[in-house]
Amino acid sequence: MSAELIISISGLRGIVGENLKPEIATDYGSAFGTLLKNKNHKKLSVCIGRDSRPSGEMLAPAVSEGLCSVGIDVIDLGIVTTPGVGIMVRHLACAGGVVITASHNPIEYNGIKLLLGNGVAPPAKEVEKIRKVFFDKKFDLVDSSIKGRIAHNEQTDQVHIEKVLAIVDKDVIAQKSFKVVLDSVNGAGGRVGKKLLGELGCEVIAINDQPTGLFAHTPEPIKENLGALCEMVTEIGAVIGFAQDPDADRLAIVDENGRCIGEEYSLALAAKYVFSKRSGKVATNLSTSRMIDDIAASAGGEVIRTAVAEANVAEAMIKNDCIIGGEGNGGVIDLRVGPVRDSLVGMAYVLQLMTETDRSVAKLADEVGGYYMKKVKLKADKEQAKLIIEKAKDIFPNAKFNTTDGCRFDFDDGWIHIRSSNTEPVTRVIAETKSETATQKYIDKIAKIHEEII
Ligand code: MG
Repeated sequence: MSAELIISISGLRGIVGENLKPEIATDYGSAFGTLLKNKNHKKLSVCIGRDSRPSGEMLAPAVSEGLCSVGIDVIDLGIVTTPGVGIMVRHLACAGGVVITASHNPIEYNGIKLLLGNGVAPPAKEVEKIRKVFFDKKFDLVDSSIKGRIAHNEQTDQVHIEKVLAIVDKDVIAQKSFKVVLDSVNGAGGRVGKKLLGELGCEVIAINDQPTGLFAHTPEPIKENLGALCEMVTEIGAVIGFAQDPDADRLAIVDENGRCIGEEYSLALAAKYVFSKRSGKVATNLSTSRMIDDIAASAGGEVIRTAVAEANVAEAMIKNDCIIGGEGNGGVIDLRVGPVRDSLVGMAYVLQLMTETDRSVAKLADEVGGYYMKKVKLKADKEQAKLIIEKAKDIFPNAKFNTTDGCRFDFDDGWIHIRSSNTEPVTRVIAETKSETATQKYIDKIAKIHEEII
C-alpha cells in the first residue's frame, strides 16, 4: 500500500519504488521547468545536486530528463550538500536548482527539493502552480532541436568553502589547532566538511564520512542517534564534535565532555558570535528556543519570528536584511554564504566563537542556555488543532499570541507553540521554560485540552 506522495513548501518527498519512481521524478522536473519558463523566456539552465542516497543515482538523471524535455539546460553538480546547491544556483546564475534529498529521513525515502534563482525554495503559491502542472501533465515540451543539454560541474565544494571562509577569520581559528570529530552519517557533507575544517587548521577525526548513503545510524542529528560521536569525542579528547544530517543543512554539536548539547544550540552559538560583532535583525521560526531572544536583546537586536519551514525564514531574512537566521533544528543561515541552512556556516561560527572567547563549547552552551524544551505530538487533525488553540487562548488570556503558524503563546516564564503538521495528521506542541517542571505543566495543560476535545 503506497503512502501519499507529499508535495509541500519543503519539496516532494516519497518512498522510492512505492510512490517515488523515475517517471514521477521526470514529470516533476518537467513541471518545474515549465514554471521557470513561464517566469522567464530566455534560454535557461538549472543546476542539480544530490545527497548520497543510492536512489539519487537513478532520480537525478530522471529529473534532468524532465528539465531537458522542456528545453532547459542542466548542470549536474554530482553528490553535494543542499546548501552547496543553493550557493551554485546563484554562482552559476541558474534560473533554479534541484536537490535530490530526503534530508534526515531514513534510506527508503528520497525527495526533490526545488530552489528558485535566488536560492530560496518556491513560496506556497508557486508550489501550488508546480503541483497543478505536475498533476495535469501540462508540460511545455520542446522538439529535439532545442531540448536541453547536460553539463557537469565539480566546483561546488571550492565555491562553498571560499564563501564560508570569507565570513570568519581563518588564520586566527587555525592558530588554535582544534581537535574536532565530524560525523557525516555517510551523507553528502563529509567531503566538504572535512575540507573546511582542514582549512580552519583543525585536526579532523572523521567518522561515517563516505558518501555511500548507507547511513551509519538513524540519520536525524539528535541526541539518541549520536552515541558513537559522543563516545569518540571523549575517547580521543576532542574539543568538539559536529554531526551533520545526510544533506548537511543541519548541524548538531557535542561538547568536549561528550554531551550532546542539542540542535537548538547551533543557531544560538552562531548568533552569539554574530551579535558580538554587530547588532541587527535575526529571523527564526516560531518553534525555536528563546535563547535567540536573549542573545539578540543583549546586543540591542531584533528577532523576527516566522512560520515553520526554511523558505519562510529565508524570505524573512532577505526582506529584513537579517545578519543571521535559521531554525532551532540545527539550521544556521548567513545570507552572505547563501539563503539555505548550512552546517558549514554553523561549524565555522562556533569555532570562531570558541577562538575569540577562549572558552570551551560546554561553557559557551551554559552561558546561552538554561532553558528546558519539550516537544510532543498529539493525534489531532487541522480542525482539532484549531479547537485546541481556541481553548488554550481561553486558559491563557494574558499570553502574547502569534498566529502566523498555529499559535505561539508567550508568557513571562516561557512559551508554547501549537501547530498542525504539514506532513502527518498530528498536532505538534512545543513548550520551553527555565525548569523541567514548569515546561511539563504547560504541556500537561495542552494535553488536558486535547483529551477533552478528542
Ligand atoms: Mg537536511
